[in-house]
Amino acid sequence: MNDRTLHSIGLVALGVAFVACLTADHASAYCRMTTEGGAQIGNSVCIEKGEPLVWSTPCLSYAVDSRGSRWMDLADIETAVDASFKTWEEADCGGSPPNLIFKPSLVPSTCRRAEFNTTGNVNTIAFLNPWRDPCADADDPGYDAMALAVTIVWHNTTTGEILDADMMINDQQTTTRNAGGPYANCPDEGCLPPDFGGDADLASIVTHEAGHFIGIGHSNIEEATMFASAERDSVEKRTLAQDDINAVCAIYPPGNLDDTCTAVPMGGLLLNCETTDSGDEVLCDDPASVPTSSGGCSACTTAQFPGDSGVSLLLVLVGLTVLRRRSRHLDARS
Ligand SMILES: [Zn+2]
Repeated sequence: MNDRTLHSIGLVALGVAFVACLTADHASAYCRMTTEGGAQIGNSVCIEKGEPLVWSTPCLSYAVDSRGSRWMDLADIETAVDASFKTWEEADCGGSPPNLIFKPSLVPSTCRRAEFNTTGNVNTIAFLNPWRDPCADADDPGYDAMALAVTIVWHNTTTGEILDADMMINDQQTTTRNAGGPYANCPDEGCLPPDFGGDADLASIVTHEAGHFIGIGHSNIEEATMFASAERDSVEKRTLAQDDINAVCAIYPPGNLDDTCTAVPMGGLLLNCETTDSGDEVLCDDPASVPTSSGGCSACTTAQFPGDSGVSLLLVLVGLTVLRRRSRHLDARS
């Protein structure tokens, strides 16, 4: 059975988070995602129990879903996404970059499902409208309505090794009570504010989510890319704050990886998770798409699945719209 937990940080509880982090004697403000830190619903307390989540070989691929967004062309989306991952890859760790290489797929994905397979995977970046996983149960409420995007990080619950990460972006139209599009590649001075429903900067959102993709949780420093919320029209999260740089450099200190590394997802690259080679639909409950015990996992020998509950799903949410107008947000919550 998979443990599907929410890592959702709400603005309302930030005061609590500051107190908690201060009393916990944090040397730094960034927070690492951990095997036991998933249940952070509605607050931003940094849970330091359990093993931190980390890619063991951080030469990583990703692919943008071919259907793109209702708001942007696929090429424009890929421009934003590539720049966002590049920002982390090129962080300055004292004169050297972190040991982290991202390789965009030359072919888009066909995968709007957040899933981990034993038979092949893709770290997919997809836009969802409606704002729910297509394979969610009928009674599943869907992703957080206040979230612009979520990143789902599959990991080994014993070791914290990250196995797969999927980024889902809310492609609904924003309303006063929900996050969503339209999205754009905003100019450097930001998109046109501040009427509700203006363009949100896609690269800012994806840069934040890419931090989750590599195992970083939410920071309590408001200027940080990994702060849980941002102004909708701002481009500030495209650029890492020192706190974000500290995080990526601590988790992936400079090492030997370079562009010649091979980025193959666990089980092999499977760009299309929705149809088979022969064109048949892959059903949501297809056994092939469900993680199995170690005995059934010949393709992923390094995963060390401990029994049949070895992989859990950590769902990381971000509500990037909520800070745009504090009073509006609080009204919406009350
Ligand atoms: Zn977040």
